[in-house]
Amino acid sequence: MTKRRSKRQRSVTDIVSTVEEQTGLFLEYPFTCLNCDTLVSGIKLYCSEVCQQTAITVRYARRCERDGRILREDVQEAIHTRVAMILGGGYPAQERRLPESTRQAVIERDQGRCKICGEPGTQIDHIASSSNELDNLQLLCSRCHHQKTAASFVSITPESHPEAWAQAQAIQQRIDAPTPLRLCDSDQWETIWRDLLAKRRQIMKSQATTEDDTNPPHPILEHVDTADLEDLSDGEQAEYLALFEGGGDEAWAADMFGLSGELG
Ligand SMILES: [Zn+2]
Ligand SMILES: [Zn+2]
Repeated sequence: MTKRRSKRQRSVTDIVSTVEEQTGLFLEYPFTCLNCDTLVSGIKLYCSEVCQQTAITVRYARRCERDGRILREDVQEAIHTRVAMILGGGYPAQERRLPESTRQAVIERDQGRCKICGEPGTQIDHIASSSNELDNLQLLCSRCHHQKTAASFVSITPESHPEAWAQAQAIQQRIDAPTPLRLCDSDQWETIWRDLLAKRRQIMKSQATTEDDTNPPHPILEHVDTADLEDLSDGEQAEYLALFEGGGDEAWAADMFGLSGELG
C-alpha cells in the first residue's frame, strides 16, 4: 500500500464525501454552478448551457460504462460528438429552439425527406448559423445530420489546443472515476437536483426578503428571473425544469442518433 493519494492535490470531493455534505456546499449563498463552481444568477444549477451539457454528458457516459452500452459503436460516437460540441463551446440549444410551427413549415417544404440523401427526414438542421429563419433550416435524417456535424469537428492535440485538451482530459477523468468526482456526476442526480433546487428556492426567498429590508439589493439579485423567486405551478415548474435540465439526460446525450427513445 502506497500513500500516493495524499500527494494528490486535495479537491472538494476529497474533503467532503457524502452527498449531503456535498449538497451543503452548493447551498451556500450566492449559489454556484454545479459543474464549474462559478457564481450563478438566482437558483440556477448551471452557469451556462455548456456546463449543463457537460454534466449531462458525463452522467450519460458513466451510465453507459456501467451498463455496458459503452461497447456499442453508436453510443461511443454519441458521446464523442457531445464532448466535441462541448469543447467547441456547447450547443446553443435555447437560441436554436424552434417553434412547432417553424418545424412543421420546414418538414412541409422539404416534403418530409432528408435534403442530403432523400430518406425520411427526422431532424431540423441549422445550415450555417443559429438563425431560425426558414432559409437557414433544412430537414435531414439523423445519419446525415451526424455526418454533417462530425465533418465540422477539427482534430486537436495538446500542442494545438492546450485548453480544449485539458478540458477533454478533465471530462474523461470524471467519466472514468469509480466514485463521482462532482455532485452533478452522481447516479442519484435525479433526486439530488430536485432537492437542491427546492432548497435553493427556499434560501433565495428568505434572502430576497432580508435584502428588501436592508439597503441596496445584492448585485446577484438584480439579475434574477422573477420565476426563480416565486412558487411555480406544475406546468410552469415543468417548463422551468426543462429549461435547466434540458428535458432529461438521455435525450440530450443521445438525441442526435435517434437513440433517446430506445435508450431512455
Ligand atoms: Zn458552470
Ligand atoms: Zn440523410
